[in-house]
Amino acid sequence: MCGIVGYTGFQDAYDVVINGLRRLEYRGYDSAGIVLDKKDNSFEVEKTKGKVDDLVAISHHLKNTAHVGMGHTRWATHGVPSDRNSHPHLSNDGKIALVHNGIIENYDTIKTMLKEKGFTFKSETDTEVLVNLIQYFMDTTTDIDFPTAVRFALNEVYGAYAITVMHEDHPGVLVVGRLGSPLAIGLGENEYFIASDASPFVEFTKEAIYLEEGHMATISLQNGVDIRTIKDNSKIEPAVQQLKLSLEQIEKGGYEHFMLKEIFEQPKSIHDTLRGRLLVEEGIIKMAGIWDHLEKFTNAQKITIIACGTSWHAGLIGEYLIEEFARIPVEVEYASEFRYRNPIINEKDVVIAISQSGETADTMAALKLAKERGAFIYGICNVVDSSISRITDAGSYTHAGPEIGVASTKAFTAQLTILALIALKLGKHNGNLGNAEFMSLISELNAIPKKIEEVLATTHDLIKEMAKDFTNTHNFLYLGRGYNYPAALEGALKLKEISYIHAEGYPAAEMKHGPIALIDENMPIVIIAPKRGHYDKIVSNVQEIKARKGKVIAVVNKGDVQVAEMADYVIEIPDTSECFSPIVASVPLQLLAYYIAVYRGANVDQPRNLAKSVTVE
Ligand code: GLU
Repeated sequence: MCGIVGYTGFQDAYDVVINGLRRLEYRGYDSAGIVLDKKDNSFEVEKTKGKVDDLVAISHHLKNTAHVGMGHTRWATHGVPSDRNSHPHLSNDGKIALVHNGIIENYDTIKTMLKEKGFTFKSETDTEVLVNLIQYFMDTTTDIDFPTAVRFALNEVYGAYAITVMHEDHPGVLVVGRLGSPLAIGLGENEYFIASDASPFVEFTKEAIYLEEGHMATISLQNGVDIRTIKDNSKIEPAVQQLKLSLEQIEKGGYEHFMLKEIFEQPKSIHDTLRGRLLVEEGIIKMAGIWDHLEKFTNAQKITIIACGTSWHAGLIGEYLIEEFARIPVEVEYASEFRYRNPIINEKDVVIAISQSGETADTMAALKLAKERGAFIYGICNVVDSSISRITDAGSYTHAGPEIGVASTKAFTAQLTILALIALKLGKHNGNLGNAEFMSLISELNAIPKKIEEVLATTHDLIKEMAKDFTNTHNFLYLGRGYNYPAALEGALKLKEISYIHAEGYPAAEMKHGPIALIDENMPIVIIAPKRGHYDKIVSNVQEIKARKGKVIAVVNKGDVQVAEMADYVIEIPDTSECFSPIVASVPLQLLAYYIAVYRGANVDQPRNLAKSVTVE
């Protein structure tokens, strides 16, 4: 889901593409590649696992050989990061080159069809399927032109993509298309640029077209930019914009920090986590990792979830989900404790490790221990081919896309989404979850991205304003019950991490066993109180807080009266099943932590003393 750069013009295409890829490095990636349409009209591809510098090391001979070309930085989703899986990918006849950001959901079906027609594949990517599908249409449709073949192919795939395609027999022509992943076209004097955002070309031109969802464009010096709808080839008038953002602002998508950008990306990232896995109409959850090992899970004597930090909070919610729906006993452990305490683990156990980076040293060590004792080990990671994903027996990637902000936001909600899928799949399989309930839960899960969109639209300004009241606060308490107890822990952790305010999360009922002593008029208490679950109990807890003059910030469902009337600050979120409510409720808590930290002048994206992937024990 990373970077694309394309160029056609009079400059050295190699320089433009390589420098452009460097500008996109901030997005995070694992491999890089380039294809040039050389002056003798032949394609030359160089690609490698690693960084843009590694690509330069093998490709500098291409300098000054072309005026047309494109490059890619890959964030692997299908197939490990490797030279072979890096982009660009070529069609079987070697004439078509393609770079792609995103996921082609139905690549498997198309791959089978193409194999039957005699196509062969060099990589494990979903992308290589698309480039061969374009060749297939070129080969089998009479009088078809290159852009039409791309359009036909795009009409056959579903998923998310931004693509750029070149054809050896159509020199100087770049065909681009977009659905779900961004793509911008830079308009220069006798030159055109293509990029995932404007940062690669802002030094050359301030005029850009942001390609709209479901649109494609054919770009050449001869004919300019021709934009069409992918569906029915209707012509679209280009909307040219003047770029006003600085380079830094472009990188952050116009947001002040990566963390805010990532908070706002959650409707999309959760959608990407569900993509191809949750087939609501068919009533199916399709996850290769689980599918192939269902019996291991359902026959397990227990499932142990091991993780650290935010991932550990996700694990706690995973425990509630799996125990409720699949009725398999679950324990959640800090990896650092698990590894040093001689746990009872054997071949009848399943151990799930959750790690955003997949490199967390404590989690890795705990997994090795579980493996030695014969447990079946399963990974939930965001980074493809990370160390943890390599030692597990099976696993699921969260597909949240690279997360740059050190404090995890979208990776956390993606982990919750995966855990929900696992719990529902297991419950359905072992018969603990009836069909009607399963169907209603999966359609609710499918609606979560929309609900988060709503939360972002309706709570952002309010939270931004109310956060000002807490810039000088020294302590915070976060309370929740049931599924929202771990959400309270996570809300508190987020605030601690980035604002350096002391914050504690507690199960709401535990308040009276200690923390209640802290409550006075200076103590803000965030209370997560959606209608479903233990609402009446929470109402009593709020009363107890108000009796001690604590300041209540309540996260409630829209239209709530009882808690809202007692609260000093009310944040409304849409109603959802209790089991998914922590996904929705986490979003305003992320915003609250973010704005308090911003007003305190903290370095939100790189909080002091913290690292993105904790590779020391
Ligand atoms: N799904 C593609 C792959 O795994 C593209 C990944 C990306 O967006 O970089 O190669």
